[in-house]
Amino acid sequence: MWHFQHTLKREVSAAGVGLHTGELVRLRLRPAEPNQGVVFVRVDVDPPRVIPARVDYVVHTELSTVIGVGEATVATIEHLMAALAGMGVDNVIVEIDGPEVPAMDGSAKAFVHLIRQAGLRRQRFRRRFIKVSRPFSLEEDGKKVAFLPASDLELEVLIDFPHQAIGQQSYVRRLSRQRFIEELAPARTFGFLHEIEYLRRNGYARGGSLDNAIVLTREGVLNQGGLRFDDEFVRHKALDLLGDLYLLGFPLMGRVVAEKTGHGLHLKAIRALRAQESAWRLVPELGESFSCSRVSSLAAAQA
Ligand SMILES: [Zn+2]
Repeated sequence: MWHFQHTLKREVSAAGVGLHTGELVRLRLRPAEPNQGVVFVRVDVDPPRVIPARVDYVVHTELSTVIGVGEATVATIEHLMAALAGMGVDNVIVEIDGPEVPAMDGSAKAFVHLIRQAGLRRQRFRRRFIKVSRPFSLEEDGKKVAFLPASDLELEVLIDFPHQAIGQQSYVRRLSRQRFIEELAPARTFGFLHEIEYLRRNGYARGGSLDNAIVLTREGVLNQGGLRFDDEFVRHKALDLLGDLYLLGFPLMGRVVAEKTGHGLHLKAIRALRAQESAWRLVPELGESFSCSRVSSLAAAQA
């Protein structure tokens, strides 16, 4: 993991259709100052609304993770958030002119491409992490999220869907940037045909198609090209988890176990962890800096 905060070298933009709204949305990623974190700005409202990508600003978790301030909301932020977390972007301004992040191909691949196109710039400030210091878990209806101490970010994701194309799948890895790019970023979101039809009747999934989701019928996968990985489903769940975890406002240092979860339980667990202050600490603590500056501050204290 990097020791210093990073932002983008230059501005980049993309456009696409929102999965649920079906609206064409333009997205612009801009470099940001150190310690700003990820900040969304709805530029189509007057005056523009600033929405920090933090757990305190999450307003819904039913179909996707939605953040908002007042009337201004941004839906389906999780795949972009996962790309920012996985690529190590600490500070960025995400300008958006609509209520939902474009679905692109249903994965984080296009966002990774965009971040690479922008390039990363190292900033003067040290990166701070939320370090899990003791085990903490939340269980609900046979679903579970647990946080355990570890020296890096480790994911342990399990899913169990009674469908012949899915069944039981697990993804257990210590996450690195390269692993994120190769193993998680290309994994697409998925849905069952009967659910999609139901969602459409209720005004959702308007932008959803075989171009931006894996669609399952009772028999199998509807998409012509099939799957990108045999276990693409659990990889996508790991991607969603990574995106939601980044709403803590800092990268996480710890092992996260997620069993049969979705955005709702992720956010509940993240809120509960944050409230349980004895279960984590922010590192490095302020004043705890590189040894050279520690030496110089010692010297200053002695003078
Ligand atoms: Zn997703």
